[in-house]
Amino acid sequence: MSIRSFQLGSVLVLVALMGRGGALSPALQAQTPMLRANGARMEERILRLAEFGRDPRGGVSRLAFSEADLQGRAYIIALMRQAGLTVRVDPGGNIIGRREGREPHLPPIVFGSHIDSVPNGGRYDGVVGVIGAIEVIEVLSAHGVRTRHPLEVVVFAAEEGGLFGSRAMIGALTPEALQIVSQSGKTVREGLRAIGGDPDRLAEAARRPGEIKAFLELHVEQGGTLEAEGVPIGVVEGIVGINRWDVIIEGFANHAGTTPMNQRRDALVAAAELILAVNRVVMSVPGRQVGTVGRITAEPGAPNVIPGRVQMSLELRDLSAEKIAQLFERIRDEARAIEQRRGVTITFTPIAATAVPIPTDARVRELIAEVARELGLRFLVLPSGAGHDAQNMARIAPTGMIFIPSVGGISHSPREYTRPEDLANGATVLLHTILKIDRGALP
Ligand SMILES: [Zn+2]
Repeated sequence: MSIRSFQLGSVLVLVALMGRGGALSPALQAQTPMLRANGARMEERILRLAEFGRDPRGGVSRLAFSEADLQGRAYIIALMRQAGLTVRVDPGGNIIGRREGREPHLPPIVFGSHIDSVPNGGRYDGVVGVIGAIEVIEVLSAHGVRTRHPLEVVVFAAEEGGLFGSRAMIGALTPEALQIVSQSGKTVREGLRAIGGDPDRLAEAARRPGEIKAFLELHVEQGGTLEAEGVPIGVVEGIVGINRWDVIIEGFANHAGTTPMNQRRDALVAAAELILAVNRVVMSVPGRQVGTVGRITAEPGAPNVIPGRVQMSLELRDLSAEKIAQLFERIRDEARAIEQRRGVTITFTPIAATAVPIPTDARVRELIAEVARELGLRFLVLPSGAGHDAQNMARIAPTGMIFIPSVGGISHSPREYTRPEDLANGATVLLHTILKIDRGALP
């Protein structure tokens, strides 16, 4: 380094030190304590939000488009304004709070999650990503850090049951989807109107590829891997693909008293074998794939009749569509063998609730990992077994997801809980990932 450039570097550090609006240079950052999120403040706000839609059975029932959802949204909008954000609701019902950057023509860095819940759900699912995003803004402001890029905090509308708000944001909310009746009893069309959206102007909610610099979502893991491993941060590899089938097993219903055991074509016994086979096949190869039979009915369903027909579900999830296909092939082979042994026929019909695997952006993943290392936080790279708004945003912007531990791996339950120190770690990782992207780590 020449003397001239050294001096120039010093001047820049000085400018950064003096300028209230200046971003921290890497050199300065090394001399100042790392910016950190406040876990106690985050927890307090999460509990305050949980008052809206508080369920007498515990937890919250803040269904999208309900009165409680409206109240919760009003609380969040107030927090956003208090944090200095300029707030609007887009036609897709998404709340967007914007903080201008030093270079307003640059595309915004967008981060957030959702605040609607399932019936009798938990206080942390989605909420952590929204409260964490507002926390990032407050910490930046408290330290006088003004980013180059504009920052946008987003609260996606109606995540549970259809990711409707993020679908609108990527231009994929169809007229058919607007007719779906949500759990609040309102159609999506009516619901969007109720929360300040405009279903007739959805095109204006759509962002095009390149319009968003990056999208980041902080979320509770909703599973038990991080806690079991004692690791505070999860770097999400991607959102798994989901394949589902209706499985019909045809046997022969006959008298349970007079039909000898060796003459039966018992559909339920065949189903029992098939369920065990699913479990065995899915566990027989390394990886994090999961397979579930979650619903089963036997007909005619009487204690004194051999079950002649069984209808059941089969669901496989993995980050690789190819692996899902391979596992399904092996399950079908097992089914063929069961047909032979039990004198039944087994048919698999794929059903529509299928989602393709969506990987997160490899560069964003690496940035999150780098931040965790710099903060001295251990991390694991893991898939998300649940769907998230991030899977939609990944279609139009480089996208990353940060997981923090769910105590006991419990979610969609009043017992959902995440410790304040983990809340702080997650929001701190989010903050520094945003700063790295802002400084040009994602060319
Ligand atoms: Zn969620």
